[in-house]
Amino acid sequence: TLEPQLSSESAAGHDHGRSTAALVGGLRAYFRSGTTAELSWRRQQLRQLRKMITENEARFLQALGEDLHKAPQESYMTEVSAVCGDIDHALRRLKSWVKPRRVSTPLVAQPARSYVQPEPLGVVLIIGAWNYPLQLLLSPLVPAIAAGNCAVVKPSELAPATSALVAQLLPRYLDSDAFACVEGAVPETTALLEQRWDHILYTGGGHVGKIVMQAAAKHLTPVTLELGGKSPCIVADDADIAVTARRIAWGKFTNAGQTCIAPDYLLCTRGTAERLVPAIEAEVTRMFGPEPQESPDYGRIINRRHAERLAAYLGEGQVAWGGQVDLDNCYVAPTLLRDTGVDARVMQEEIFGPILPVIELDDLREAEDFVNRREKPLALYVFTSNSAMADRFLSRCSSGNACVNDCMMFMAAHELPFGGVGQSGMGNYHGEHGFRTFSHFKAVMKRAYALDLALRYAPFSAAKLRL
Ligand code: NAD
Repeated sequence: TLEPQLSSESAAGHDHGRSTAALVGGLRAYFRSGTTAELSWRRQQLRQLRKMITENEARFLQALGEDLHKAPQESYMTEVSAVCGDIDHALRRLKSWVKPRRVSTPLVAQPARSYVQPEPLGVVLIIGAWNYPLQLLLSPLVPAIAAGNCAVVKPSELAPATSALVAQLLPRYLDSDAFACVEGAVPETTALLEQRWDHILYTGGGHVGKIVMQAAAKHLTPVTLELGGKSPCIVADDADIAVTARRIAWGKFTNAGQTCIAPDYLLCTRGTAERLVPAIEAEVTRMFGPEPQESPDYGRIINRRHAERLAAYLGEGQVAWGGQVDLDNCYVAPTLLRDTGVDARVMQEEIFGPILPVIELDDLREAEDFVNRREKPLALYVFTSNSAMADRFLSRCSSGNACVNDCMMFMAAHELPFGGVGQSGMGNYHGEHGFRTFSHFKAVMKRAYALDLALRYAPFSAAKLRL
């Protein structure tokens, strides 16, 4: 069998293409053996993945702390328990997911049975991002396993501690004939993308998303792209300001704002901004103290380059609160920005950090147009006590996901699909939706020999046509 894990060291000096081709060829041969399609094997692999996480939980929390200064409790909530929850849900539901689904058969085809039968796709590639380096790599692996595939996971090189730990542990727990972790950056990912895969799930920015899709197109490989964008957060005048402020502060400043579904900017009237801004300040102080840099619970920006990128936004409005930056320590304070022009870069690019512009409108009815003039976001948030108003935004504004009166909580519902639309992505996963992403739904009809009507066979005589 193949050496399953291609470390960045071994890959670096060699011909990436050749060794990657050998890796994928080995996985493909194993897929053909039929082992991965067996339900008992899938279950066992899912249990092993769970064991890998629970037996090494402390090490994962440590690695996530090193990569992003995440507090252990936060890492547990947003990464470790998120993946374990996905595994448990898949184990509970797998039996029903794999069942062929019977559908009706029209009279002309009877007697027959028609059904839809899920089957694994083959060998799939999962490319993760750095902001939730464990969850975004392993949560897609869960449905890939559940659906009976072989898989290669490629962690983000920007979260090296988590990447190294997954690369070290994965082959120890999972069947290394079926799964591999390939570490590395652009050259290694490029070599992976040259291979022919049966599906690619990529999480990250749209720029690389296009590279992935182009590479996949060469082999007619389908893709799921989990991208980002500017997720608006609309706060109506009738919102419960105290609860709204707490939930926005949590949604925006968890992981120092480096969350693809974090509210990117606020949309509200001037009057609401006057009440909301101090309320958010109070909540942030309650969570991280007066000096967030001292707080063990407040994260860091992934690297200096990104910290510099964020610091440049601070000059594009009036810093209403926060604004401190310590580039050497990749620290950017939770910041509220007011009086930002809509043409400023901070309102054109995805912020992906702890800076929250407050866009003040004369009338909240302008919010709908404001959102719809921009690319379709990954998430849309509406805070209001008026459910008709919430429904209006939900029906008029397209977004990958949406939440009324909270941020990000839809992630907790296993039965909701997670994915973008338009520039925020294509396809989705989580729960059964993930199983569907990594399966082909084969249409099957089983016919009987009896009742072979002559009608459809030539010669088509006038008598037959009259029938
Ligand atoms: P990133 O830098 O981690 O890149 C993602 C992956 O692409 C990495 O594995 C990286 O090695 C690879 N990559 C980078 N350049 C490449 C190239 N030239 N060719 C081939 N592969 C390459 O991630 P990022 O883009 O900085 O992530 C931030 C973006 O991801 C944001 O837009 C965010 O909204 C989005 N995101 C989306 C989700 C989601 O689930 N929808 C989750 C997290 C992040």
